Amino acid sequence: MDAFVNVDSKEAASEWIAKFQCHSKTTMPQTRGYDIKGNRVLFREKRHCLHSHEVKKKQGKNVITKHLQSLRARDIGCNASIHLRLIRNRLSLTHPLEVNISYTHNHIINSAESLSFRNVNEKVREELLSLFKDGHSPSSALYVYQDNLHLKANDEQELIEFLADRSVNPDYNYTANLFREYRKAVLGNRNGGLMFERLAEVVKDYNDSGQGKAVFQAYNALEGKAFILCIVTSLMSRIHEKVPQAGELCYVDASASFEPLNTSITLLYTSCAVGALPLGLLVTSDELEITLEKAVFNLLLLLLNILTFTKNIN
Ligand SMILES: [Zn+2]
Repeated sequence: MDAFVNVDSKEAASEWIAKFQCHSKTTMPQTRGYDIKGNRVLFREKRHCLHSHEVKKKQGKNVITKHLQSLRARDIGCNASIHLRLIRNRLSLTHPLEVNISYTHNHIINSAESLSFRNVNEKVREELLSLFKDGHSPSSALYVYQDNLHLKANDEQELIEFLADRSVNPDYNYTANLFREYRKAVLGNRNGGLMFERLAEVVKDYNDSGQGKAVFQAYNALEGKAFILCIVTSLMSRIHEKVPQAGELCYVDASASFEPLNTSITLLYTSCAVGALPLGLLVTSDELEITLEKAVFNLLLLLLNILTFTKNIN
């Protein structure tokens, strides 16, 4: 079928094809671009259905489908294609863009199976990235996002379509990979310099916020420096000020670590009539005597900075 569309530039043509894919719930990646020679043709490209062999060939990996009968086989030899061409002679007309569509798919285009192969929408990607910025992990970001999806759907039918469509409901693998990329770009590798630069910023923001005070020493294997982070929240400093037991009794809860870098978390408590009250928090990269000694020393310096009543410090 030949059709003509009121689009008169390359950018507008790309926009049109994006809208077309969104509306038809199909994905048609470009399989052939054309070198534009001379100035007669302004824009020309050919696209095929995601389920065609052409797309697989263009991507150039695993060109032979191993399990043809599998439900997860993407290349099922669909022949649907679309050919766009914009030529200068037609620019004066109201509908200059020529569209040649051969739209006979060999599969149902809005079945859950076909929808699950679609590429994730750019807007969805940005939404996930902003959730990561707010401190979400891949699974909690996906949970919040899907929660919103439930609220967005007007009825059951629409919800089912949303959930099946990968372009609006990305899978966990996608989200986890996106998170890995995001973390690498923002924080750098684990234990890398960039991570400590970022931590220094966070500590500075925390100190400026008036919520409490923190001090840290960056990890440095060459100089043999362990990672130490001491935190005294505003609640803790109030306890040091108001609760007399803080100056008399202090016990330590060296609990296990629950995160991938295996840093150890040590909490200092005091005991009074209402029960245990926290006095300080130490996060260290190891539990050597010298490290803990330095950590406690740093914590004491921090407390000295915060408190005017030095008599209450352990
Ligand atoms: Zn198709």
